[in-house]
Amino acid sequence: MAQEKDVRFIRLQFTDIFGVLKNVAIPPHQLEKALDGELMFDGSSIEGFVRIEESDMYLMPDPNTFVIFPWRPQEGSVARLICDVYHEDGTPFAGDPRQVLKRVLAEAGSMGYTMNVGPECEFFLFHTDEKGQPTLETHDKAGYFDLTPVDLGENARGDMAIALENMGFEIEESHHEVAPGQHEIDFKYTDALTAADSIVTFKFVVRTIAQRHGLHATFMPKPIFGINGSGMHTNQSLFKEGKNAFYDPKGPLELSETAYFYLGGLIQHARHMTAITNPTVNSYKRLVPGYEAPVYIAWSAKNRSPLIRIPAKRGVSTRIEMRNPDPSCNPYLAIAVMLKAGLDGIRNKTQAPPSIDGNISEMNETERIAQGIPSLPGSLREAVTDLEKDEIIKEALGSHIVEKYLEAKKLEWDQYRTRITQWEIEEYLTKF
Ligand code: GLN
Ligand code: MG
Ligand code: MG
Ligand code: MG
Repeated sequence: MAQEKDVRFIRLQFTDIFGVLKNVAIPPHQLEKALDGELMFDGSSIEGFVRIEESDMYLMPDPNTFVIFPWRPQEGSVARLICDVYHEDGTPFAGDPRQVLKRVLAEAGSMGYTMNVGPECEFFLFHTDEKGQPTLETHDKAGYFDLTPVDLGENARGDMAIALENMGFEIEESHHEVAPGQHEIDFKYTDALTAADSIVTFKFVVRTIAQRHGLHATFMPKPIFGINGSGMHTNQSLFKEGKNAFYDPKGPLELSETAYFYLGGLIQHARHMTAITNPTVNSYKRLVPGYEAPVYIAWSAKNRSPLIRIPAKRGVSTRIEMRNPDPSCNPYLAIAVMLKAGLDGIRNKTQAPPSIDGNISEMNETERIAQGIPSLPGSLREAVTDLEKDEIIKEALGSHIVEKYLEAKKLEWDQYRTRITQWEIEEYLTKF
């Protein structure tokens, strides 16, 4: 294919533990060597990877992920392959998030399940200044589902959808989101590994196409105070023997016992996996009341305020929508921990609490406590503490990633905690 399509460069891609895309570019004559897993790189320069003395890592491309970048010229094109990371002796590298997901998927496989995931990624498009630097300006007055001429990002969003389709994505819908400059593009659910690969690719494509329109795309969860932030709702289902294991026409709400146990697992581990699904200091500025983002740990088939919603579709489309993940997460790790939590629920027959169909944000604290509705962590610091307490979630991630991840997140929190913010200046400088 590389020869036929006159590919000049192949980018071998993988992500670090934070989901940041990395790549090594090779010319086609190196491809055979790469496909044999003989391509070495220095792992010590990647955050969360390894120490200098054990830095030789090997990239093993997954041939299913071969894709040509459609925005590059037809002749002399550029392709990519997503890779797994291995040690010299051929053992999988414990710091490779893609293999963390593969491991949990194998665990699901041993219980007879495959997992499907359909993400809904939201993002903002901002203008750049004369120097090409991103601003927080949108020049856009549009809102949910609006059309041009108010939506200046629409052209860019259209081109994004076309580029993604050309790369094999099946785009289900794309629309303007609630906030000015905010957009969402949804693609059809796939198996979980493909979905995680697709999320990483999606963010890269959206950024690239935005840049070509003189815009900056950001997946930062809450760029602007006072308006909606960006989420990455994650629709998930398990399949067994080709059938949706969450669907049971005779069950309550037409959901199977498996679905309820999975739900029970998600709810039980919700707080403990938030440091993975909502990994930044900024993530917790989104998880506040009033902006369609979840704050309370509850589920409902009727309304959208709780953490988990059961969309109305049944049959093959029966699914659970987890609403707290945001697009700054590492999708491999986020999907891995959600699946692990769900499997743990199935294994232990964890009972899901009754659904909460009223608007939780209108309840006061006493009412919430009376109904036994806990909250998600309020900060990255709280989330880190909760992750440290959960052996199941830590087992999903593996000790290498747990150690590096916690170390990095504690540092991130400390850097933030010790800064003096604009809010403090406004609040205290003249008062005291
Ligand atoms: N932007 C909202 C969030 O932060 C979701 C809005 C929506 O899709 N209805 O999750
Ligand atoms: Mg949506
Ligand atoms: Mg949305
Ligand atoms: Mg949604």
